[in-house]
Order: sequence, then structure tokens, then C-alpha cells
Amino acid sequence: MVQIRNSNGYLMQNDDSGPFDIIGDVHGCFDELKSLLNKLGYQINYSETDAKYKVIPSTSRKAVFVGDLVDRGPNSPEVLRLVMDMVQAGLAYCVVGNHDDKLYRKLCGRNVQVRHGLELTMEQLGKYRREFVQRIRIFLECLPHHIMLDNGRLVIAHAGLKEHLHGKHGKTIRDLCLYGPTTGALDEKGLPVRLDWAADYSGTAIVVYGHTPVHTPTWKNNTLNIDTGCVFGGKLTALTYPDNILTSVDAQQAYAEPMRPFLTNQV
Ligand code: MN
Repeated sequence: MVQIRNSNGYLMQNDDSGPFDIIGDVHGCFDELKSLLNKLGYQINYSETDAKYKVIPSTSRKAVFVGDLVDRGPNSPEVLRLVMDMVQAGLAYCVVGNHDDKLYRKLCGRNVQVRHGLELTMEQLGKYRREFVQRIRIFLECLPHHIMLDNGRLVIAHAGLKEHLHGKHGKTIRDLCLYGPTTGALDEKGLPVRLDWAADYSGTAIVVYGHTPVHTPTWKNNTLNIDTGCVFGGKLTALTYPDNILTSVDAQQAYAEPMRPFLTNQV
């Protein structure tokens, strides 16, 4: 495994070939995450004594999180604890999402706008010990902006990534991984207008990403968006690689109103 670090964060390259269960934006939906992992054959036990989740996968497989673990949902702290415990036990990889990055900046005392669900995460974290919050800050700091797995055949980035940027490092690339390309214009709600980077993707690597909720994951040129908007009352979805099987669980409820309508996939 190679973990490359510079002032613009981390990039991870790993020849691990899986199988992987790649999981979409969780956004604090802890119960749905546990249900999805159970459905995929992971056993999850909580140990009170060391305040850790002990996870046992059914076979030698790993979870990969596309980022946006936190915000808007009912239990971001326990989502973080479970994912941190899995990553630290060598059972999962995780890339950073824009919401995780904003929480990190907030925990560093930077001046960020506490909205779009961050206010809920901060309120939930208010009930936790300082050591736990510190652990989250250190974990988020080290999350890579993208991960290349299976010798570059599988690329995970929160908002996706064009082929010529795979394995590259830098502030522009990190920003693209977190937010995706935008036109520079704002829509009627003041949100940046996003560009569909996957429309002209022609790479051989499979790129799995999230960031923009879709009703149904649909393959487009070797790319797959698996954010099915669980926190907005949709589903939490996983893609199992290399078999390309989709598994999902329904949201127990809609915890937040979507900022914009879900994308209907058009290939
Ligand atoms: Mn998201």
C-alpha cells in the first residue's frame, strides 16, 4: 500500500483486489448502515468496555466508503465510530467527502458556516467526550481524496474523477474529488451548477462515486454513482466489486429535505 501525503492531503494507492463492498453517502444514517452491512454479511458487535465496534465480514472482503459519512442524519458520531473502527481494523477504506472535510475544518476551529446538517452533527457530538472528538479530527485529517485499488482498475472519489487525474495529487484535484466540476455559475437556489464529468469518461478504470443523489445507480462509461440519497428518504446502496452486484436498504425515514431534486439517470 502506498499512502502519499503532501500539503494537499492524502492519496492512496493499493494493489488490494477485493472483493469490496463500496458504500454510498451515509450522512449519519447509522441504523441503515448497520442494516446494509448485515445484509452484506458483516457481523457488528459493540464492546462496551473499549467503546469499539468489532466487525466480522462473512468472507475476506472489505468495505469502501465514498465519503460524506456525516451531516443531516440522526447519528453521525456512531457512523464515524463504526467506520473508524473498521478502517483501523483493516476492514475498510474511506475517502473524504465535502461534508467530512467541512466537519474537519470546524473541529480545527476554522470559521465555517454551520449549516446543511453540520449543525446537527455538532449538536450530536456535544454529548461525546473530547477524546472521541479528537479521534474524529485526526481520522478525518488523514482521509485520502481518492483511492486507487486493484492496481488502478478501481478508483474511488467522493464526486468522481476524470481519467487523466487518476493518481494525481494537488489542491485542484482534491477539490475536484470533493466537489466535482462546476460551471462557476449558481442556480436559482444559490448552489453551484454541477457538470456531469462522467458523460465523456472513456477510461478503463471503474470509477465509483457519490455526492449527487440519484434514484437508481446507472452505469455510464465505466462509472457508477451509488449515492441513492438515504438521508433524504431514499436508499443506502453498496456496489460489490468485482462482481458488480448492487445491494441496498431503504431509509427508515426522510431525515432531511433534498437541496435539489434527485438526478434521474440518462445514459
Ligand atoms: Mn453527500
